[in-house]
Amino acid sequence: MKITSTDIYITKDGQFFPGKHQMLFIRINTDEGIYGFGETIVIGRGIPAIHTLLKLYSKSLIGEDPFNTEKIWQKLHGISTGDPITVSAYSAIDIALWDIKGKALNVPVYKLLGGKVRDKIEVYLSHIEFGWPDTDKHLYTADDYFNCAKAAKEAGYNAIKTNFIRMPSTPTGGWTSVGPYTRFTRAMLEEVEERVAAVREGLGEDGEIILENNAVTGVEAAVQIANVTEKHNIWFYEEPVTVDYPEEMKQVADRINIPIATGERLCARWGFLPFLENHSTAIVQPDLCNTGGITEGKKIADLADIYHAGVALHVCGGPFAHAASVQLEAVIPNFVTHEHHVTYLSKYNAIYGKYKYDAKDGYVEIPELPGLGQDLSEEAEHELDKITIS
Ligand code: MG
Repeated sequence: MKITSTDIYITKDGQFFPGKHQMLFIRINTDEGIYGFGETIVIGRGIPAIHTLLKLYSKSLIGEDPFNTEKIWQKLHGISTGDPITVSAYSAIDIALWDIKGKALNVPVYKLLGGKVRDKIEVYLSHIEFGWPDTDKHLYTADDYFNCAKAAKEAGYNAIKTNFIRMPSTPTGGWTSVGPYTRFTRAMLEEVEERVAAVREGLGEDGEIILENNAVTGVEAAVQIANVTEKHNIWFYEEPVTVDYPEEMKQVADRINIPIATGERLCARWGFLPFLENHSTAIVQPDLCNTGGITEGKKIADLADIYHAGVALHVCGGPFAHAASVQLEAVIPNFVTHEHHVTYLSKYNAIYGKYKYDAKDGYVEIPELPGLGQDLSEEAEHELDKITIS
């Protein structure tokens, strides 16, 4: 089997975040008529740069055997500098190649990665501050958080993640999260604690709460948040500080009583190693669409397993990000939970995937279709610009 061409799809007028996500997919075509889809993401505004790189990389793929995922990964990693833009580009390619392999062998990708160690994937509802079930309606007051958490529980979710410091007190006032925070005032901490208490009340004592700071806090501010919220039995604490200095993550870990998770901005296994070696990070969060694809995601999961760390993949994209993540989550023993992001669930993004994988009673199914178990919808063809490289 040989690669003959690629189709690169990008949303015509998408904003990155929040609301209408900017999608960038690659379809890799072969001489046997089998094709695979991959997706990329970058935290920030790098999508146009990745689009350009995918055109460049596509030329180098022509004539390659799509089964040689390791060889192609090494080739693309070797000509990159390991920066987020280049790694994000070849992440999409790697995911598409695994889709082809599964389809060619008529098996779901998980069967090629070691086989299932679980039959369904537990999910958490992620970033409710942007709004859920109405994903256009941001949350502001403690009552907003209570109502959302209660609705999530009634819908079957047992776990919620939110950034409790992102939104101001009201749509037009109060304190705002512009970051980076070095220290919170007492009033701000009280408001954060009220929001966390509201989610705990709405979700019930058995529910799980995940704190998310999106790396906008320094060490002291991160510790303040942990100190006022730990009484609400927090599951884990995501990105309390940036990943610029692994020793800062260790400082936070040593001063709080909540496990730390991080990794959505880290590319490839070398980025994760310092956080595992210093034992600051209990749960790693690679994003398959920017950390090196399924090939690298499996290696990062295995690396984390050596340090007895869990894996909660960062999933903030569209249908192929979701599908690739679920395929890997099915096989890794140190899986923790799946991110079901309100952006993925929004009406804007729900149109792109041919198959729907909604959560039911707090779980999503593992697709049994060959490959990733996802395809582009007919509707998506009208929303995307396409260029073909051959
Ligand atoms: Mg995050």
